[in-house]
Parts: sequence; structure tokens; C-alpha cells
Amino acid sequence: MLHTDSITLTIPPKKSIALIAHDNKKQELIEWCLQHKDILANHNLSGTGTTAMMITRMTGLTVKGYNSGPLGGDQQIGAKIVEGRIDFIIFFSDPLTAQPHDPDVKALLRIAQLYDVPIATNRATAEFMITSPLMNATYERRVKNFQREIVKRSDSLSDWKEKA
Ligand code: PGA
Repeated sequence: MLHTDSITLTIPPKKSIALIAHDNKKQELIEWCLQHKDILANHNLSGTGTTAMMITRMTGLTVKGYNSGPLGGDQQIGAKIVEGRIDFIIFFSDPLTAQPHDPDVKALLRIAQLYDVPIATNRATAEFMITSPLMNATYERRVKNFQREIVKRSDSLSDWKEKA
């Protein structure tokens, strides 16, 4: 009864991992991918356009590419989280450079947080995540029960009709 307002979604052993790096962090992410190539090869990989292409070219890993980040790629990945199609994110963001698509980056971080999706925004966190025993296991993430929330909101926001 404790969590009737939430549902659980399973992160399976074979995960759908999104890989994103801002320009100043691309080299670091590619080196990290090379270091963990054997593990990454066991999962479904995708990423923002340029990052995905560079990882594919330089590591040989198959990475499905969405649009480039500044052209909406982060938003596409956010939408995939909402659809339950991405359940793990490695996002080497650059804290020292202003990004034209900063609102999209913020939106992606928010959606990942909301959907209880593991997300690493620096190398150390990525290192802890990729070496976790949970990489080979299922994990039940806890997400707000949106269907129930829609009914509740719809009911409460319809009050005006009864008062009229
Ligand atoms: P990119 O996008 O992989 O196309 O460079 C990443 C980003 O800046 O969000």
C-alpha cells in the first residue's frame, strides 16, 4: 500500500543505453566507451547524432543515432524515456561552456530524474554505474502512476463544472 501512487518499470539485464557528450567531452566519452567496450557491446546503444557517429567510427560499437543535440537530439532521447524505450544514460556534459540547447539539456535531466532512470553526468559516476552488479540484473525503477495522476487531475480540475 505504501506506493499505490507509483508503478514499477523494469530495467532488464540488456539495457537501452543512451550516450551523449558535449563537444569538449566527446574524447573523454569515446575513451570511456573503448575502456568498457566489452560491457557496452551487450546492450542496445543509442545517442545524439554526432556523439553516436563518433563512437561508432572510433570504437566499432553499433550506436543508433538520433538528431544532433542542438537540433533536438536530447529532446528525442527524453521522449524515448517517457515511452520506456531508454532506461540508462551516460551523458558527459560540459559544466564550463554555455550550450545553445541548455533548456533541452535541463529537460532531459528532469525527465530522467522523474522516470527514475540512472544517469551519469561525469566519468566517475559512469564508472560506478558500469561496474555495478546491476548491469547484469533486472532493476525495478519506481515511476509515478501517470494514469492515476491523469484521472485525479482531471477530476479535481473539473470542479468548476459542478460549481457553475
Ligand atoms: P551531439 O549532441 O552528439 O550531436 O554533438 C550532443 C549535445 O550537445 O547534446
